[in-house]
Amino acid sequence: MAENNSVAALRIKDIYEVVPSSGGFPHVRSGEEIIFTVAGEKAVLLGRLLEAIDGKKNVKQLADEFQDETNLTVIESAINFLLSKGIIEEVVFPESSLALHLKQQIKYLSHYVAEPEAAIETIASTKCLIVGEQSIIKRLSSDMTLHGFASIDKHAVISGGNESEEDGFDGIRAKVPLADFVVLINRNFSSDYCFEINQLCLEHCKPVLFADLSSGGHGVIGPLCVGGQCSCYMCYQSRLLANSKTHREHLDYEVFKKTQASSGVSFGSLKSLEHIVDSLVVVEILSYLTKFRAPRTIDGTLIVDLFQTEIYREPVLKMPGCRACGAI
Ligand SMILES: [Zn+2]
Repeated sequence: MAENNSVAALRIKDIYEVVPSSGGFPHVRSGEEIIFTVAGEKAVLLGRLLEAIDGKKNVKQLADEFQDETNLTVIESAINFLLSKGIIEEVVFPESSLALHLKQQIKYLSHYVAEPEAAIETIASTKCLIVGEQSIIKRLSSDMTLHGFASIDKHAVISGGNESEEDGFDGIRAKVPLADFVVLINRNFSSDYCFEINQLCLEHCKPVLFADLSSGGHGVIGPLCVGGQCSCYMCYQSRLLANSKTHREHLDYEVFKKTQASSGVSFGSLKSLEHIVDSLVVVEILSYLTKFRAPRTIDGTLIVDLFQTEIYREPVLKMPGCRACGAI
């Protein structure tokens, strides 16, 4: 019998009654149909209870949900009726694999940070805003969830850096002040769009990590811009032209895009780079939040070179008098 304080969740059993029907073919009756044939006047309440049973709530949570309108004893007897008829069951679920995974993460982090539990709490409560193409932000957010991030806001942008939402740039203008950390994954966005996000984050003193999946065989993670203290996206763009080993490919790729413009080719880095860039983005955010090591993308970028199978860091120094961060 169901106890009011039971921790087990209630779920509708996956059983059906097979009954003959007039057409000669057997008819399959679901649990919901069964109660209408056995419960008489109780059927309305039972039907509503069944709608509320979702495999996650226990008896107490269900009782709380209905208590304003129905007496607690009636609810308990209704639940017991459903249990006795075998229409629902109580299930104690084992600890979720995510919870076990996070436990392992806490244990492992304890080698590197003094208070791993507090670090995990920081990760869970940090409001992250991810900006990028729909498929990219979807994958990154599931990767982040596996690392304990519990508050992720996703802002989809279509290729070219055009806002896909009706309110255009005003949408993101409203979201940035609410975020604790911003990630922008650029895939063929215009530099202007990235500059605007850079500026917005600087104005609101929000840390922002840039990543780039725009050019052929390499991916870029960084810079991580934290206030005006270190190099920003505009510093990076100014330095990129002169300093980066990737600059040659960057230029070649621009030519490739021009020559292939009408060919229906999808532009951007090769797909195989996306997961590596995702993982490094997550590790960089974790290192910033938990301080298990210094982020490698402050005043620098991490380059993933697919063809040489190398990951290396390039320094990105703050530009004196940078138009974006110099005045802050
Ligand atoms: Zn700057």
